[in-house]
Amino acid sequence: MNLILLGPPGAGKGTQAKRLMDRFGIAQISTGDMLRAEVAAGSPIGREAKAVMESGALVSDDIIIRMLGARIDRPDCAKGFILDGFPRTVPQAVALDALLAEKRLKLDAVIELAVDDAALVERISGRFTCKSCGAGYHDKFQPTRVPGVCDACGGTEFIRRPDDNAATVAARLEAYHRQTAPIIPHYRAQGRFFTVDGMASIDAVSAEIAGVLDRL
Ligand code: AMP
Repeated sequence: MNLILLGPPGAGKGTQAKRLMDRFGIAQISTGDMLRAEVAAGSPIGREAKAVMESGALVSDDIIIRMLGARIDRPDCAKGFILDGFPRTVPQAVALDALLAEKRLKLDAVIELAVDDAALVERISGRFTCKSCGAGYHDKFQPTRVPGVCDACGGTEFIRRPDDNAATVAARLEAYHRQTAPIIPHYRAQGRFFTVDGMASIDAVSAEIAGVLDRL
């Protein structure tokens, strides 16, 4: 099964992608995570992407498309994948169509998580992840059960993304509306485009996505 999760930063794409990965045994492909790994490694891509990411703008289509093409050839994608944070521009969506056609793959669904802009700043500024296992939390909406201890692995070190601050979030939202939202008509025209209410609780959103997938 091959899916795209679409939505503004903070809509819950990463959280839902992880649940789908566990449920269906398919790969989560987050271009944001891939870029953060390149930045951490100090690679040429990372050096080029770092300042762009910190400003809240989008990294060049060229870099992203090359990175994605190599990623979906990896063995963990054999049963399918969930794209989280890709495509983010019309050229990326067009390049993905070509890539999938070349590999004789098809998209089963494009699922948009719809969330009000006003809710996103609060969601984004409160989030953090476990440094050891990557489990995601939120100060208000999903705190750890024991303060300072990861529920999943017992780790005690957590990280917050440098671009999860109010000023950068505003730029990221602007990029979403100006550059990413225009891909919605592209997928509506292809069919299999669904919108779920991303304002609901994490479990309710998962249930709504499961309902969409059951009906496919
Ligand atoms: P994310 O983790 O998806 O919120 O992405 C973090 C940042 O990485 C974005 O604000 C962009 O600067 C960059 N990025 C991630 N995915 C893409 C993409 N598909 N196209 C362009 N830039 C991206």
